[in-house]
Amino acid sequence: MKQKKFNPLFWKISVVFFFLLAIVGVVHVYISYKYSTEYFQEVDQRLNHDTAKNIIENSTPFYNGEVIKPALNEMFHHVRAINPNLEVYLIDPKGKILAWYPPEKNLVISSINLKPIKDFITDKNKNFIKGDDPLNPAIQKAFSAHQLTMNNMLYAYIYVVLNGEKGKPETDTLFTSYLLQISYRTMGVTLFFTFVIGLLIINTITKNYTKILHVMQQFKQGDLTARVDLNTIGSEKPLAEIFNEMADILTNNINKLKEVENLRRELIANVSHDLRTPIAIIRGYLETLQIKEESISVEDRKNYIDTVSKSSEKLEKLVNELFELSKLEANQIKPLKEPFIISELVNDIGTKYSFIAKTKSITIETFLSKELAPVFADISLIERVIQNLLDNAIKFTPENGYISITTEKCYNNHVKISITDNGIGIPEKDRERIFARYYRANNYTDLKNSTGLGLAIAKKILDLHDSGLELTSAENTGSTFIFRLKCVQ
Ligand code: ADP
Repeated sequence: MKQKKFNPLFWKISVVFFFLLAIVGVVHVYISYKYSTEYFQEVDQRLNHDTAKNIIENSTPFYNGEVIKPALNEMFHHVRAINPNLEVYLIDPKGKILAWYPPEKNLVISSINLKPIKDFITDKNKNFIKGDDPLNPAIQKAFSAHQLTMNNMLYAYIYVVLNGEKGKPETDTLFTSYLLQISYRTMGVTLFFTFVIGLLIINTITKNYTKILHVMQQFKQGDLTARVDLNTIGSEKPLAEIFNEMADILTNNINKLKEVENLRRELIANVSHDLRTPIAIIRGYLETLQIKEESISVEDRKNYIDTVSKSSEKLEKLVNELFELSKLEANQIKPLKEPFIISELVNDIGTKYSFIAKTKSITIETFLSKELAPVFADISLIERVIQNLLDNAIKFTPENGYISITTEKCYNNHVKISITDNGIGIPEKDRERIFARYYRANNYTDLKNSTGLGLAIAKKILDLHDSGLELTSAENTGSTFIFRLKCVQ
């Protein structure tokens, strides 16, 4: 049976979501309760706005600034008749409570804040105003008030606390409780469905994030092939795509670094091997010359010195080429481009190499177009390219061979230079790799004259001239190397 994976992200978000919904619920209940209570108090105050006035109109418990007890009792009697839940207070102009109803109640405060009472009396708009409840001063309540005046003289206030201690009238309580119940139930059902739908959505989203996270972890642990399957990731596809692209780039870079590292190791191994061989030869022959100084024949001595000389030449060539290639690869060589006639350069090099080629009875022929515009290039670097290609052509062409150099106009204001030989050719499997430094094709076993750097140098120089180095070759038939140079506009 497939074991269900624990999804911590899902649980974390769900718990937070649950608490948020619970907070929303509590806030909603609080607000509903507070405002429904306020609503009923306001309604109560509006309905009973003139209650205090009505009470006082029926019996005035004052005469000449004195409280008349029978009139006061009559007034309280009248209140009982109107609504036994009302709390009635007789207050002097400074707010002190002079008498109250129902009398059996114990007052907690003996005077009342007059500001709400004055506001109530003067407010024509009947705004909702709350005042003190002397039986429960912690809560402000709806009230009705009226002032007692005689000859423009203020004697007292009648202050009626509506919905007093006994609470709201039954109808209000019933209505409030119904309203609140409807509100709580609607809220409960809404919150429940929001929670369930929320969980489903959170589950879908976190499942996708968890998948991506899982693949990231695999990648982190070294599995460079780990990628998110974009077909199963839904709305998180953009994130998955970014990760996949990032992983591709990282993997490519790692592979490139590995390649460079391998090449570096290979290079060090090859260089040390190739340096060691001529050095060993030089040392060996010099030691022989030292030890057998007297007994050595003149002819042998000459041969030994020749060998030492050739080995030191090879050593010098190898060191020079390595140095040159390193500088090219480090971009330390900046081509000094200038206009020159390529056919003239090729002609000069051809003549020089004809003498060298003659030692192997190889013929060098040039086919130079005379109508070419000057090319724009670094003359000494291009000379180096042609020399390296000709060195190879002579090296890999047997005696009595044939080499041709051609310059001709080609597309887009470029000149095409081709060097063709009828030598040993290059096996197909090696054709791409011979441009890498230190690579030598298997067909050539005489490594005395070879450094494996000539083509790498030529290719680098042509890179700096925005040109490639093309090769066509057939084994035992010959090879042609082609490059193109831009002409002056
Ligand atoms: P090197 O000539 O010193 O070995 P290069 O980088 O110039 O180094 O050449 C790399 C390899 O390419 C050679 O070792 C040889 O195998 C092959 N090669 C280059 N030019 C030719 C050519 N004209 N004919 C046959 N093989 C060639």
